[in-house]
Amino acid sequence: ARTLRIGLIPGDGIGREVIPAGRRILEALPTSLGLKFSFVDLDAGFETFKRTGVALPEKTVETLKQECDGALFGAVSSPTTPTKGYSSPIVALRKRLDLYANVRPVKSVAPTPAFPDPIDLVIVRENTEDLYVKEERTYDAPNGQGKIAEAIKRISERASSRIATMAGEIAVRRQRVRETTGGDAAGKKSMVTITHKSNVLSQTDGLFRATARAALEQARFRDAGVAIDEQIVDSMVYKLFRQPADYDVIVAPNLYGDILSDGAAALVGSLGLVPSANVGDGFAIGEPCHGSAPDIQGRGIANPIATLRSVGLMLEFLGQEEAAARIYKAVDANLAEGRLLSPDMGGQARTDEVVEDIIRRL
Ligand code: NAD
Ligand code: MN
Repeated sequence: ARTLRIGLIPGDGIGREVIPAGRRILEALPTSLGLKFSFVDLDAGFETFKRTGVALPEKTVETLKQECDGALFGAVSSPTTPTKGYSSPIVALRKRLDLYANVRPVKSVAPTPAFPDPIDLVIVRENTEDLYVKEERTYDAPNGQGKIAEAIKRISERASSRIATMAGEIAVRRQRVRETTGGDAAGKKSMVTITHKSNVLSQTDGLFRATARAALEQARFRDAGVAIDEQIVDSMVYKLFRQPADYDVIVAPNLYGDILSDGAAALVGSLGLVPSANVGDGFAIGEPCHGSAPDIQGRGIANPIATLRSVGLMLEFLGQEEAAARIYKAVDANLAEGRLLSPDMGGQARTDEVVEDIIRRL
């Protein structure tokens, strides 16, 4: 059996309750998959900062780089007042490991009056550039008319091309999974929607749009039946909230992707359900979208599903699609039955009980 070494970075708050759940599901995967796991516990976060003066110890980065195949990151608390020397460890990790994509699937639990058709889409957000290069400056306006602040929006061909290529690969994989699962999902059209505002920002977003389009026109995507669609970002928001079932894969530059992915998470109810992965070439960190939830920490009632789905995503990007599919199916079965749900979902089950129910269904 192949052994994958996984770094576990619980961080703060409920990160310490949900990351152990992620470890448990990996340990419970059927041996018939031919996979084994070893784990290494790693520090990061605000508690680590208060103890040691650094939020992301060098040892964590080095261990991930040198020993690990992938990792799971829980959540970190941010200081409530500006704190000298503190900066977000996950933002730093994305940079240090060149995790250039943030992948966020959004999937509905059950039909609702507002959204009778199943929502099953994924947002692929570029993670390294755009306005988030943080090159800002402030200066005095001429004639003493106050200050002016400006920021660089940087879009490169290289980053746009590799994020669109990843979106195309995700679309192909989703199509393959739909074909093998069959059912309602089998009819869904494989499509990547490029989101931009090139009608106004003809150079920056224009470059993103043209480069993404060229990347998606590759024969391997065309042959797999991946259609190319595009939307101006503001009308994208409108359509996404009117007809989310129409979308499959959405690819966007950093800022639009950030906004779209938080917004899309609201379509499916609890934050406790929505996973993400930070992905580079050959490395992936699974990370639930929620934060450290100080209001419920230490009570054993955090919803583990966002983390369990993030484990699935990490596995997908490590080439273990079958193991990932097992986890997704078991989670969906737990939600469909609706008997053992955590309080955020209207149930009374504890974190451990939800995890045990999902493990039983693997
Ligand atoms: P949050 O996501 O922690 O919580 C928002 C609400 O959702 C809370 O009521 C919480 O109880 C609930 N919730 C979140 N996850 C849940 C789960 N798994 N099960 C059940 N309920 C869940 O966001 P917040 O309250 O705005 O932030 C709390 C802290 O987390 C802050 O310090 C913030 O900076 C940090 N944060 C970190 C990340 C990250 O690490 N990626 C993301 C968002 C917020
Ligand atoms: Mn965000």
